[in-house]
Amino acid sequence: MGAIRIRERALLQVTEPGLIESVLLPGDADYAPSLATLRREQAVVELGSGEYLLPGFVDLHNHAPQWPQLGKALDVPLEDWLDRYTFPLEARYRDEEFARRAYSSLVAAMIANGTTTAVYFGSAHLPATQLLAELCLQAGQRALVGRVAMDAVDTCPDYYRDSSAGLAIEETEALITGVGAMPGNEQRLVQPVITPRFIPSCTDELLAGLGEIARVTDAHVQTHCSESDWAHEYGLARYGRTDTVSYDYFGLLTRKTVLAHCNFITCPDMDLIASRGAAIAHCPLSNAYFANAVFPLRRALESGVRVGLGTDISGGPGTSILRAMADTVVMSRLLEDGVDADIPTASRGVSGSRVSSMEAFYLGTTAGGIALGLPIGLLSPGMSFDAILVDSAAAESALTLWEEFDSTDEILQKIIHSANRNNIKQVWVAGTSVKGPV
Ligand SMILES: [Zn+2]
Repeated sequence: MGAIRIRERALLQVTEPGLIESVLLPGDADYAPSLATLRREQAVVELGSGEYLLPGFVDLHNHAPQWPQLGKALDVPLEDWLDRYTFPLEARYRDEEFARRAYSSLVAAMIANGTTTAVYFGSAHLPATQLLAELCLQAGQRALVGRVAMDAVDTCPDYYRDSSAGLAIEETEALITGVGAMPGNEQRLVQPVITPRFIPSCTDELLAGLGEIARVTDAHVQTHCSESDWAHEYGLARYGRTDTVSYDYFGLLTRKTVLAHCNFITCPDMDLIASRGAAIAHCPLSNAYFANAVFPLRRALESGVRVGLGTDISGGPGTSILRAMADTVVMSRLLEDGVDADIPTASRGVSGSRVSSMEAFYLGTTAGGIALGLPIGLLSPGMSFDAILVDSAAAESALTLWEEFDSTDEILQKIIHSANRNNIKQVWVAGTSVKGPV
């Protein structure tokens, strides 16, 4: 992980398909003439005092159908949460009108919070999931959208379960075709994702079938991995091996895989994930409610695993990747120090676990792009212009910048920890303004 470079008065030139062509600095020979030309052509957006341009945020893991229960249903363990709250809610998405209302509201909120790329779990309904893909495209949000597959009789309720592995496989293929064929999606702003919910809810036949689709189509894959004590032990009891090894066995651990959580993965699991080039979506807030442990982020990074951040709506009751960045820092400090004051200091925590605010920022932007293999998350030539404009003086801002003694690094730290959606004045995806002036 390199250092974050903050450039002052930089001039980014964006080409027609929304790619950053060049980044000029005031000392560069081309800077003044380029700026003069762009001003003459009225083709430049100039930042005002107290305004900052950041790469757009990448949310590697969230559940679109759970949006209506954001902030509630956080009182029970994962397995009860699914049965009592989440499966009944997700089952409602057979009603496309309901899906349209919920998904429109979610996509708008994501963009308002600066999430330029989101990796969405949908429900187990093809029409509603196809609709989610269409709504992302209409709103201009870069998105990866998956129809969740879940056919296990023991763990999925009768009212919300794929009637067979064959049906889930067929509808996964249909989504891949449908998303690829959407008018206006020629640049592949929206892409399909193969989405087994997690090992407890999928039969072997389904996991093998989805692995075969991954091999044939080279589509992205997303799932949950070793999330909680219960989920991790379920996989071990069923197969005698960890979730990571099982996904690899079924062909679901690829360069294009995003594994959510991974709190209980072993060192060999980390090495396997790293060797396959797969990524982990670290969901710090959701982990606090449902995972029974803190993800060993530092160890994963040192093992060479690609890691980005996820909100895990609605297991995590937050919409903003800024919050996920701040929570990443907090959780890493809790892991480092430990939490029980009755345990002696030396053995209370896991030393060396902390990550900095800047590292968390990198995880929520650049690292998210690397995890997905997409040219996003960095304001550099050749990357897509997916960016947000932060206005530190916005109405209802919680930011307190102090020009006399805040360095640019410190301003970014303050943005990470105290900016909110009101500070996000404008959002661009692939060079197109999707929030703020068009
Ligand atoms: Zn999840």
